[in-house]
Amino acid sequence: MREPATVASDTDEAFFHGDLSSPDPIPEAGIEAAVNLMRDGRLFRYGEDRNSIPEAALLEEEFAAYTGRKYCLGVNSCGCSLFIALKAVGVESGDKVLMNAFTLAPVPGAIAHAGADAVIVDIDDNYLIDINDLDRKAAASGAKILMLSYMRGHIPDMDALMEICHRHGLTVIEDCAHTMGAGWNGKLTGTFGSVGCFSTQTFKHINSGEGGLIVTDDEDIAARAILFSGSYMLYAQHRARPSLEVFERHRYQVPNCSMRMSGLVAALLRSQMPVLDERNESWRRIYATLEPMIAAINHLKMPERPEKEEFVPSSLQFSIDGISDEQIAVFLSYADVHGVHVKWFGHQGPIGFTSRHDHWRYLGGHNSTDVSNADRVLHGLCDIRLPAWLTDEDCQTIARVLGDAMEQAKQH
Ligand SMILES: *Cc1c(COP(=O)(O)O)cnc(C)c1O
Repeated sequence: MREPATVASDTDEAFFHGDLSSPDPIPEAGIEAAVNLMRDGRLFRYGEDRNSIPEAALLEEEFAAYTGRKYCLGVNSCGCSLFIALKAVGVESGDKVLMNAFTLAPVPGAIAHAGADAVIVDIDDNYLIDINDLDRKAAASGAKILMLSYMRGHIPDMDALMEICHRHGLTVIEDCAHTMGAGWNGKLTGTFGSVGCFSTQTFKHINSGEGGLIVTDDEDIAARAILFSGSYMLYAQHRARPSLEVFERHRYQVPNCSMRMSGLVAALLRSQMPVLDERNESWRRIYATLEPMIAAINHLKMPERPEKEEFVPSSLQFSIDGISDEQIAVFLSYADVHGVHVKWFGHQGPIGFTSRHDHWRYLGGHNSTDVSNADRVLHGLCDIRLPAWLTDEDCQTIARVLGDAMEQAKQH
């Protein structure tokens, strides 16, 4: 049993005693499957002469079924899945790739890894890709690929976005690191573009420490992705794969980049697939509880979320407005000391997981990219992780700490 995170204190000050960074444990079934695999010793996903079906192949089959996509491939991280997706759709060195300004460092990292040039698209006040800026920059740059990151689980108007992508002939790769099980108007993320990429890093929706999943309906992209991931000529052992003739078209052309998923990771993930929807339901409940409480705090603003957005918030974002940077520093440190760690995207330099486009200086030409709204929005953007175990009482404590922190900041 977890210790209660909200405990009565003898002072008036609210403290949150839980650890917002603590993940859910691996289900017992996953621990047992992992132990069995270790006893067996066959942790590598391919075997040369085995009769049993490898865990990774089963996970891929199950995840393909979950998303309703034909093909699925497990790899060693979402960052690698983004790289493989770029290569599998045919990105060559020097090609331009559009990406939204609000994202995590592995996204520009994957573009750089593929040797491509990022074209950064602005965001709106609700942290979503600015569709008009996408329209402009797609036309001006001639880019043929959009890497769309649903950063922190925020999903733009997919009807409007896909319409623009079709108009410009853009191939869309979806970064679904924060949207496993989320959708737009009844359609899951990862099924809008040519390829969907998911993360199973510890702070995402299912947890194997490291891991990534790629889904697609395109047989050539699927075969190329499998070969890129490092299947050797053992790809027949995949189950969520295209027919073997498709591999004949690619097997002499695609380098082996050794980014495979291990059997151990797959075993841990298979045990979490049955609890994914339940966890997502907890996150929705937690967000719905916290949202009005945070929105009621002076100078804090919650983003507007469209009715059609079916998000699964494993974290929560809000904007701070109308106080100075010094006051923001007081707000952050008071909240931190009282147990609520708030990440801020406005720091001068990159900190922890948090960095901005102006920190990704390896990206060619980014300095000439005008993303002035992103600069303004990110300056006020705050982020807290939401473990799925938070109770209503925990949410009240967290909101109280944030309210007290703002009072302190304003007195400063
Ligand atoms: C975590 C994350 C990634 C990268 O995932 P890894 O599995 O850690 O490589 C990519 N994009 C976003 C938006 C993320 O949050």
